[in-house]
Order: sequence, then C-alpha cells, then structure tokens
Amino acid sequence: MSGGPVPIVEFRAVEKTFAAGTPKAFTALAGLSFAIEDIPGHGEFVAVLGPSGCGKSTMLNLVAGFDGVAPPTAGEVLVRGVPVTGPGRDRGMIFQRYSSFPHLTVLENVTFGLELNGRELGHSAAERRELARHWLARVGLSAHEQKYPHQLSGGQQQRVAIARSLVLKPRIILMDEPFSALDEPTRLDMQALILELWREIEATVFLVTHSIAEAVYLGDRIWIFTHAPGRIGREIRDEIPSFRGTAPIEAQTTPEFQRTVELVTTLFQGVTGGAVPA
Ligand code: ADP
Ligand code: MG
Repeated sequence: MSGGPVPIVEFRAVEKTFAAGTPKAFTALAGLSFAIEDIPGHGEFVAVLGPSGCGKSTMLNLVAGFDGVAPPTAGEVLVRGVPVTGPGRDRGMIFQRYSSFPHLTVLENVTFGLELNGRELGHSAAERRELARHWLARVGLSAHEQKYPHQLSGGQQQRVAIARSLVLKPRIILMDEPFSALDEPTRLDMQALILELWREIEATVFLVTHSIAEAVYLGDRIWIFTHAPGRIGREIRDEIPSFRGTAPIEAQTTPEFQRTVELVTTLFQGVTGGAVPA
C-alpha cells in the first residue's frame, strides 16, 4: 500500500450474500468498491439512489457493523483502514421510522446513548443532561424534552433521532430513508436542518433516499445503484451545483436544480433500465 491518506470508509470488492449456501441464497451486493476520503474540516455527503431491493440498506448496515449483515461474504469493509467488526459510536444510524424508547422522555432518550457509553465518555449525569439539552436545542425541541415519543409528530420524532445520534459525535452518519415517512413540508424542513447541522459537525454522511430532488439538494455526490446484486452503476459529482445556503424550497425552483434533477433521472433510468427509485 502507498502512503496516501486513509479513507474514512472504504469498500473493497464487497459481496453480501444472505443465506449463503442454502437454496434461499440471495446476493444483495457484489463487486461494490469505493473509497471516501476524510477531508479535514469537510465531511462528504453521499446520497444513494437505487431500485428497491438493490442492497442500499445492506451497504449501510455493513458500515454500521450490524449483526446479521456484517461481515460481508467476500471483500472488505474498512472504516479508517480498519475492518468493521461491530457497531461503534463513531458511526450513527438514523432510520425511516423513529426507533426510540417509548417509556423514556425525549431528554432521557438522548442521554441514553451517553449512559451506554458512560465509562468510555466519562461524563457526569449533569454533563450528560447538558449535552443532551444542547442537541435538543439544535434540533428545535427544547420545549419538548419532558414529553414521551408518542406525544410528538413524525417530524419531531425524527428530530429526536437526529439529536440522539449527534450527541455521540459520530464521524460517520448513516441515514436510511430518514424522511420518507414525513409529509413534504416537514421533509423540506428536515433537509434544511440536516444541511445546517452537517455543516457544523463535518461528518461523512451516507443518505439513502428515493427522492432524486433530496439527493440533488443534499448530496456532494450521488450514487445510482444497479439492480441487485447492487454496485455503483453511476457516480455523479461535478454536475451537482451546490445549494448550500439556499433553502430547499428556493433551491427547487431554480433552473439549475431542475436541470440537475432531470439529468439524474435520465442517468437513473439508464442504469436501472427504467425502474423507479425506491
Ligand atoms: P434496499 O435497501 O436497496 O431496498 P436491502 O439492502 O434492504 O435493499 O435488501 C437487498 C436484498 O437483500 C433484498 O432482496 C432483500 O430482500 C435481501 N435481504 C436483506 N436483508 C436480508 C436478510 N437478513 N436475509 C435475507 N435476505 C435479505
Ligand atoms: Mg432499504
């Protein structure tokens, strides 16, 4: 190996076959290779599009190191040059459906992860509360910290999920269709929030979405996955204008945005033979 910078996330010829060696064997990913550089002071935002069942969630789960998916069947999944062997707080996952603890308040849901990692992090209970309150304020939930998840709207619940993830200062954030269950205005609010927070924390983000507009708005690069076994059929980078500092609704009305959405739609159809993003 030469001495270049170590990528923050690297896949080397990754294959994932579920139920390998049985009649139900299914290869979700094959020959998936990429390297995302860890540019100091600038985490990259990778938006992932693809047809249903092409292995997008599988890819995120391999980075997360989740049981049942990690390790890959073949190839290597590396985070900062080290093979992933399990979950860690350097990687945070945000799912489509908010997976909070219903019996814990909003504040307790956010302090919970800090408690789990208590020994390593060494915070006092007061410090944990302070950190949790900082992140609840950043996602606009200060007034709701004593509520229970069922008392919140879907958008507010996703804000809790974001606060819960960011309080642990992950360097890699994995988002699996995080806004798909939200109505359109809430979804646009969340996109604006994510961009604002992400500028601040400079983490590397992988966002799986079925919205081409969302990918264009948020992504520094967009990957279009092939049908399963999934791999990157097309990467789009230089053709994506930056919409930093422009609100989603404003950005969407510009000709550059609409042109880019059209381009990505055409490329998507080329890669997938006319499937829809899912
Ligand atoms: P996507 O997120 O792109 O829609 P997934 O990564 O969830 O796709 O799944 C890719 C394929 O792998 C799908 O066909 C799915 O049914 C299959 N798959 C996912 N997880 C498992 C599993 N634990 N066991 C067997 N098959 C699985
Ligand atoms: Mg999925």
